[in-house]
Amino acid sequence: MIKLENITKVFPSKNGNVTAVNNVNLHVKKGEIHGVIGYSGAGKSTLIRLVNLLEKPTSGSVSINGTELTTLSPEKLRQTRQKVGMIFQHFNLLKTATVYDNIATPLKLLGYDKQEVKKRVEKYLKIVDLSDKQNSYPSQLSGGQKQRVAIARALSQEPEILLSDEATSALDPETTNSILDLLLKINEELGITILLITHEMNVIQKICDYVYVLENGEIIEQSSAIELFTNP
Ligand code: ADP
Ligand code: ADP
Repeated sequence: MIKLENITKVFPSKNGNVTAVNNVNLHVKKGEIHGVIGYSGAGKSTLIRLVNLLEKPTSGSVSINGTELTTLSPEKLRQTRQKVGMIFQHFNLLKTATVYDNIATPLKLLGYDKQEVKKRVEKYLKIVDLSDKQNSYPSQLSGGQKQRVAIARALSQEPEILLSDEATSALDPETTNSILDLLLKINEELGITILLITHEMNVIQKICDYVYVLENGEIIEQSSAIELFTNP
C-alpha cells in the first residue's frame, strides 16, 4: 500500500546540506498500522511528508498502491493524494468556520454536490462521535474534540491511507488514549491503513503493528511492535 525505497531527502542550506532522511526503506501493507518513532530532529516529519510528496525526495521512490508518485503529472498526483488523508499535531482547522464547514469546504472544493457533502459530513461526524457539535466553532471545542473534527475531515474524502503527524502530541494522556482508540476503530472498521510518526512510546505500544526507530534520518531499528516490547 505504501512503499518507500531508498528514500533520501537533502535540504540545501548555507552551512552545508542537511540530510533529513537518509536511505529509508519502509513498506506498509494494506490494513496495517505502522509507526515511526524518534527524537526531535530525527527526520520524522520530513519522512511522513515524503509519503504524499508534500516534500519531493532527493532520490529514491515512493509508491502508493503500486503507483510510483515521483514521476506522476501534477493532475495524477492530485488524484493519488486523494487516497491519502492526513492529521496533524495542531489540528489545522479553520478557526472562522464551524465544524460542519471545516469538513464540508474541502469536499465542496473537490466538486461534490451539496447532498453528498451533507451525507459525508454527517456520516463521519457520527463515526468520530461529534454529531452534536456541527455548529460549534473550533474555539468552543477541547483539543481532543478538535482532533476528532480533523479526523472526520480526513475521512470524509474516503482515503485508503491515513498519515498522522504527531496527532496526539498536544493532548493529555487520557485524551491521547481516546484518540488512539478512535484510530484503531477506523483501522478495523473502515480498513484504513495508517502510518504515524510520534516521539511517544506509548502511542507505538498501544496501536502499532510494526515500528521503525529513526535517528539522524536513518532507520536504526525496526520490528513488530510485539517484539519490541517483549525483548529487553
Ligand atoms: P522531526 O520531525 O523528527 O523533528 P524533521 O523532519 O522536522 O525532524 O527535521 C529533520 C532535520 O531536517 C532537522 O535537522 C531539520 O532541521 C531539517 N529540516 C527539516 N525541514 C527542513 C527545511 N525545510 N529546510 C532545511 N532543513 C530542514
Ligand atoms: P503543492 O504540492 O505545490 O504544495 P498542492 O495543491 O498539492 O500543492 O497542496 C497544497 C497544500 O495542501 C500543501 O502545501 C499541503 O499543505 C496541503 N496538502 C496537499 N495534499 C495533502 C494531503 N494529501 N494531505 C494533507 N495536506 C495536503
